[in-house]
Amino acid sequence: MSKTIQMTTIGGPEVMQLIEQPLGEPGPGEVRVRHHAIGLNFIDVYFRSGVYPLPSLPSGLGKEGAGVVEAVGPGVTGWQVGDRVAYAGGDNGAYSESRLIPAAQLVRLPDSVSFELAAAAMLKGLTAQYLLRRTYRVKPGDTILIHAAAGGVGLMVCQWAKALGATVIGTVSTPEKAALAQAHGCDHPLIHSAGHFPTQVRELTGGQGVNVVYDSIGKDTFLDSLDCLRPLGMMVSFGNASGVVESFSPQLLSQKGSLFLTRPVLFHYTAQRSDLEQMAAELFEVLADGTVKVEIHQRYALADVAQAHRDLEARRTTGSTILIP
Ligand code: NDP
Repeated sequence: MSKTIQMTTIGGPEVMQLIEQPLGEPGPGEVRVRHHAIGLNFIDVYFRSGVYPLPSLPSGLGKEGAGVVEAVGPGVTGWQVGDRVAYAGGDNGAYSESRLIPAAQLVRLPDSVSFELAAAAMLKGLTAQYLLRRTYRVKPGDTILIHAAAGGVGLMVCQWAKALGATVIGTVSTPEKAALAQAHGCDHPLIHSAGHFPTQVRELTGGQGVNVVYDSIGKDTFLDSLDCLRPLGMMVSFGNASGVVESFSPQLLSQKGSLFLTRPVLFHYTAQRSDLEQMAAELFEVLADGTVKVEIHQRYALADVAQAHRDLEARRTTGSTILIP
């Protein structure tokens, strides 16, 4: 038996119900993982609320977990009972004590990475990796703009980008979050209510604009973010915390300086096993050498996941959040 969060309908945090269900043995290519820690991510809110469609209902929720392999299915090679593993992606279902999962999605945890750190850093850190190293390759001398700079992805991006030699401008909603972002490599934290961020970005860059904007807020910030870019700059729209970006004509990108636009998703970047392994290795390296420090600012029991979602949606969290099964 495994305690697990189940949704029979999409909706508010209350639709997540803790149930107990039999799990069974892993099928071909699968393993059973007993979670020690589960990652909370904003994408879980999108699936719960219907911004992203679920393939079917009832459904589990959650994309990220860390724990120990408990059973290995037929045809699985390379994994044994007792292995320390983590994953970020695949079917929803991480909000559970144990789950069945394709072995191909697992990453082996080095001894230096605890279960809690893995659950706090895998999905957000692999995202920071591809944003900074693949979608737009940040180089010394670049200036970047990152929204939600004190959030889970935000704090990792600030530290990593700084270490790559970039000047980091970030937006946040409160002075406390500004101080936190600054302590994690954000050179210029901007508080939304204290000014018009495109104007402030122009001032900070001598009128030039930034090389790249990493925008996870979506609807509320998309157009203003375009105004922060220099000609030929890269707009990376990677989330919709405020709502989905509305339709517009590509003509806008030419008017604003032949801008590039991409709307990336982590799971496309990790679809090839070799990419996943290489990205995870790079992530574990920056975690081990202290380039990126991940602080778990919120911990909730799995049974309290509704409160965790309420806090995340109300912008009350900073850094990473984990659930303890
Ligand atoms: P965060 O910890 O960053 O939480 C979201 C933050 O967004 C809030 O704390 C808040 O920061 C800011 N925000 C701005 N407007 C709103 C709003 N209307 N409602 C709620 N929050 C708002 O979450 P994560 O680190 O889990 O994820 C960050 C973003 O990155 C999310 O949008 C997520 O979907 C996206 N993402 C995308 C991936 C991809 O591959 N495309 C992969 C991983 C994450 P503040 O109060 O300071 O403004």
